[in-house]
Amino acid sequence: MSDVKFYKGEDIPLELHKVRVVQKLHLVPIERRLDAIKEGGFNTFRLSTRDVYLDMLTDSGTNAMSDNQVAAMFQADDAYAGSQSFARLQKAVEEVLGKRFLLPVHQGRAAENIICKTFIKPGNLIPMNYHFTTALAHITENGGKIAELLCDGALEIKSSNPFKGNIDIEKLEACIQQNGAANIPFIRMEASTNLIGGQPFSISNMMDVRRIADKYGIMLVLDASLLGENAYLVKQREEQWKENSMAEIIKMMTGLADLVYFSARKLSSSRGGGICTNKKELYGKMEALIPLYEGFLTYGGISVREIEAMAIGLYETLDESMISQSPSFIKYLVETLDSLGIPVVTPPGVLGCHVDAMQFCDHIPQSEYPAGALAAAFYLISGVRGMERGTISSVRDEHGVEILADAELLRLAVPRRVFTLSQIKYVIDRLQWLYDNRKMIGGLTFVYEPPVLRFFMGGLAPTSDWPEQLMLKFRKDFGDSL
Ligand SMILES: *Cc1c(COP(=O)(O)O)cnc(C)c1O
Repeated sequence: MSDVKFYKGEDIPLELHKVRVVQKLHLVPIERRLDAIKEGGFNTFRLSTRDVYLDMLTDSGTNAMSDNQVAAMFQADDAYAGSQSFARLQKAVEEVLGKRFLLPVHQGRAAENIICKTFIKPGNLIPMNYHFTTALAHITENGGKIAELLCDGALEIKSSNPFKGNIDIEKLEACIQQNGAANIPFIRMEASTNLIGGQPFSISNMMDVRRIADKYGIMLVLDASLLGENAYLVKQREEQWKENSMAEIIKMMTGLADLVYFSARKLSSSRGGGICTNKKELYGKMEALIPLYEGFLTYGGISVREIEAMAIGLYETLDESMISQSPSFIKYLVETLDSLGIPVVTPPGVLGCHVDAMQFCDHIPQSEYPAGALAAAFYLISGVRGMERGTISSVRDEHGVEILADAELLRLAVPRRVFTLSQIKYVIDRLQWLYDNRKMIGGLTFVYEPPVLRFFMGGLAPTSDWPEQLMLKFRKDFGDSL
């Protein structure tokens, strides 16, 4: 029987935890929000949290810790080398992820740096289900290219495909034959494919990928940052695995990969990250880079307190009632918005709800960044901070030409165990108002464009006075309420 509880009939998720530490939030007036988004260059990354009511920017490092995680932080063993905290983490990685050799790193992208530096040579190709921003940056930084081989229909917004994160096996084999196995250091598979809406892959697909990897003697690397939720959705959606425990499902997935890396900012609601494997020779190839880039091999740039929290967080990944909270809130959010006719990515995935800005703002040309504009507009009228996942998050090609993204999404992240259902209902309510007034949203244009990962610190400006007009309409409809 599943641990997960819902109110019968209404499908309202029921939390199996209580909140014991709270943080005060502020909802500043829309006039202040207009100034704040202007000061932040219409980029939600550059907002200060004192101007943000619900921070739905990301699920990274913003999750609620458990009482057991906080308790473990007090018994941390401060030592430069040989810390017992690291020994406990190693044990957790072995028991939960089934890998004996662990290299600690300060966060997920640091793992990508070490792996790419070690295995990629200029001209190499990395086939994958889909890229993640930092993974792509590290691959190209080391002279590699990527091939995205998602199954057909994975980029369709509205879908009933339970596993949009699957790799197309025929495309994978054709890609290897075309480019030559010798030119492919590894295949990268990302759990709960982040940028296409947090969509999982199935175990049967990963088994097929493994078969191809074996056939051509290519290493399989699993980005396990969102592994817990991928396992949870396998249990919910993949017939053969319904009766298995989270522990069995997770071990099955990690067992299929030669190398597993993760960001603990997501996977265990703490900080840090890791690279793990059962192959001593792979460990040996990367080992020397850890002291160079991260820190000594028993702390890797992570504080011992966070190492303790990470170890407990890994064990908690096995608890379905702990993992289910965020995906079940997301399901509620996505299904309600969908029923109101607001375009969102379906089926519900993990880490957040993804609003389709291409439809929401179908009057804004893609060159004027509809997802960025929607993120700015939604912050303005709600105080809720989401993130642009579209062309602004992409990169220009080698000639400086803009590459339009496959999708223009406003991502509203649902950090694990942080929000209440009434806050989620507020998001729905304000999004519905904005949808009714969507034609008032205008485009954006860059005024400051950093050359690498421009979405983080880039500055933009509206193409007209649409933010002021939207504020006036808000005041007209809501009176002097916030
Ligand atoms: C967040 C994330 C990363 C990068 O992790 P950081 O800790 O933010 O550096 C890599 N891959 C995936 C799938 C992620 O979601």
